[in-house]
Amino acid sequence: MPVYSLQCPDCQHIFKGLVLEGTQEPKEWVCSKCGSYKAQNMKPDEHVEHPLEKAHGSGCPCCG
Ligand SMILES: [Zn+2]
Repeated sequence: MPVYSLQCPDCQHIFKGLVLEGTQEPKEWVCSKCGSYKAQNMKPDEHVEHPLEKAHGSGCPCCG
């Protein structure tokens, strides 16, 4: 069952939201700290490319 990472914009509280199997994802998440209904799914972390994972070439530490 999916677990969402949620963040409350009001108090910056980060918490997990669980969606039970067979139920719909709630339209509103309630912050477990301050009770705000504005908590939202956090965007997944953008993948930060490690320099050594890049294709070899210009700027590459081992080719440069
Ligand atoms: Zn909150």
